[in-house]
Amino acid sequence: MAVDLWTEVRYLKGVGPKRAELLRRLGVVRVVDLLYLLPRKYLDRRNTARIANLRGGEETVIFGEILTKGIKRMGKRKAFTLIVGDGSGWLELVWLNLDPRILDRAFRVGDRIIASGKVVRYRGVKQIFHPEYEIVGEAGEPQGRDFGGIIPIYPQTEGIKARFIRKLVDGLLQDSTLEIPETVPENLRRKHGWLSRREALRNLHFPQDFRQAERARATLAYEEMLYFFLNLGEIRREVLGEAIPLKRTGALTDTFLHSLPFELTGAQRRVMAEIEADLARPEAMHRLLQGDVGSGKTLVAVYTMLIAVENGYQAALMAPTEILAEQHFLVLTEFLFPLGVQVELLTGSLKKRQRNRALDRIETGAAQVVVGTHALIEEGVRFRNLAVAVVDEQHRFGVLQRGRLLQKGQKTPHFLVMTATPIPRTLALTLYGDLDVSVIDEKPPGRAPIRTRWVTEEKRDRVYEWVFQKVREGQQAYVVAPLIEESEKLDVRAAEEVFEDLKRRAPEGVRIGLIHGRIHQEERRRLMMALRRRELDILVATTVIEVGIDVPSATIMVIEHAERFGLAQLHQLRGRVGRGAERSYCILITPRQISEDARARMKAMVATDDGFEIAEVDLRLRGPGELVGTRQHGLPGFRVTDLLRDGPIIRKAKADAEAILAQDPALERPEHRILKEG
Ligand code: ADP
Ligand code: MG
Repeated sequence: MAVDLWTEVRYLKGVGPKRAELLRRLGVVRVVDLLYLLPRKYLDRRNTARIANLRGGEETVIFGEILTKGIKRMGKRKAFTLIVGDGSGWLELVWLNLDPRILDRAFRVGDRIIASGKVVRYRGVKQIFHPEYEIVGEAGEPQGRDFGGIIPIYPQTEGIKARFIRKLVDGLLQDSTLEIPETVPENLRRKHGWLSRREALRNLHFPQDFRQAERARATLAYEEMLYFFLNLGEIRREVLGEAIPLKRTGALTDTFLHSLPFELTGAQRRVMAEIEADLARPEAMHRLLQGDVGSGKTLVAVYTMLIAVENGYQAALMAPTEILAEQHFLVLTEFLFPLGVQVELLTGSLKKRQRNRALDRIETGAAQVVVGTHALIEEGVRFRNLAVAVVDEQHRFGVLQRGRLLQKGQKTPHFLVMTATPIPRTLALTLYGDLDVSVIDEKPPGRAPIRTRWVTEEKRDRVYEWVFQKVREGQQAYVVAPLIEESEKLDVRAAEEVFEDLKRRAPEGVRIGLIHGRIHQEERRRLMMALRRRELDILVATTVIEVGIDVPSATIMVIEHAERFGLAQLHQLRGRVGRGAERSYCILITPRQISEDARARMKAMVATDDGFEIAEVDLRLRGPGELVGTRQHGLPGFRVTDLLRDGPIIRKAKADAEAILAQDPALERPEHRILKEG
């Protein structure tokens, strides 16, 4: 069978249905997805050190063969270790606190391994704790192509070896019958000195040196942004349509404002006034609302939607995850039920009957405010008269989906995007240049700052003693279980272990719950409700609680293995507490041995709880030469482009896209035809 970019990977030799399913979890369905799977990082084999020459204290890369593997005790803890030899000497690779069974399965004696990290010496033995590693050759296998100088490391998922991905990609790029058509017009490629598409892909995966890799990535980032802006231009033409002008009547909004148990902040007032003015116009509002976690964006959303409802129209609120949609539903119901406003929830996990009922109520207009996930923009969802659409935490959504929500009304609905992602302001303007921007730069008053502490695992017992003490005083806590890369199953298992452990430790009467992505939605809803009603003291969770969860009475956030989280993620998690007037705490627990970077992240967390400062540190820590996708950092989901660093590329692509659309809006000229097909 002839393979092209759109061939599904399950038809490739050596893949099959089972591996195809695993690849799908990495977002890889078609050949093109595989080719654009960005290496998470590279290991540089060109300058590996000889083990005998290592002194201790240096960051290094070694290459050798696994001589033995096993579990040993280190102090009170169990460690999984590998002894690796390279002919000149041997050293020990050590993992603490990870499930030894999983590690055991990952390695075989005789495998050839490349590992990097900081070397320490303990009683004459050289060790690397928690190394970055890669198996580059298996026991009994001759040294093959894999032995290039710079080795791409892909995101890991259970059951798929990075090595397998590497071979697959290599095979495709070697295959001269695979057509990789150009997508960037020749003149633009020449103007910026970009590579051809095939070359760019080749050098992204198998670079000769890091400069080549960076050039390749830049080429592909430009391609990505060019299409992004071309799409955006198209959407803008569609949405700058006529809208229904909505004048605030006060019928509902006044009651709502009076019912609030607190004063609005100045920033909230200002933003609400901006929105009110937008809504009154006959052109659709198109506004981005930025505000750090906990700054009170939800109220602004409710206010905006109520203006639609008091004018006799519908409003919708779209959230990126089910758990967040469910929570918005609870919060909105609390606010809106007393006002007699009908709120409807629409998510993917509704049963057929519930779903049909919801769809019906949306279509007849019985549902005045609709809260949901992606399910809102599926075919078959018809609104009677949608006039306001709000999207929360925009960075989880593609811009095209944004367009689809807009098409749901007869006229263009007014549109509000809310985000807590601290994108530097200039960049936000570039990226969302088609949106008006409002900023909430003030937190509700009377909030004690969150106290953040970083402790090592030896203090875990004391941390939990203290948590139980606080619980007895009536406080509520979250405990976030360690993140296990790209594996939901292992995340869930880790959370279960923490949950069991806490149950064993907890004194009589402490009520503990467990929540994660695989818990059924009814149960999830029950748990969140219980937490809000203070019927639960401690909630153990995976990162499903990362975004948007709002339970003001929860004051303690404990994060296990905090070193495994990125800064943005830690900041989001911490944002779950400090939402009421009571003093809140965030406790970061890490092993004693962690990388320099992780150490810097912990220090930043302790030093500040300002989202913009955190973003700056994040930017600094991720120095040049490091290739990272944006996904780990919680920024909009581009595959190749790094929003924090690629400002110049983004600006070039934007200018080019605008110039193209200005001359040739329908992309009909011959030299632009590839833009339509690409
Ligand atoms: P976010 O911006 O992260 O979405 P939320 O809208 O969830 O923040 O608000 C966080 C918490 O602060 C909520 O419990 C909300 O009720 C409360 N809150 C919002 N505005 C104010 C205010 N002006 N004064 C006091 N508390 C407020
Ligand atoms: Mg929110």
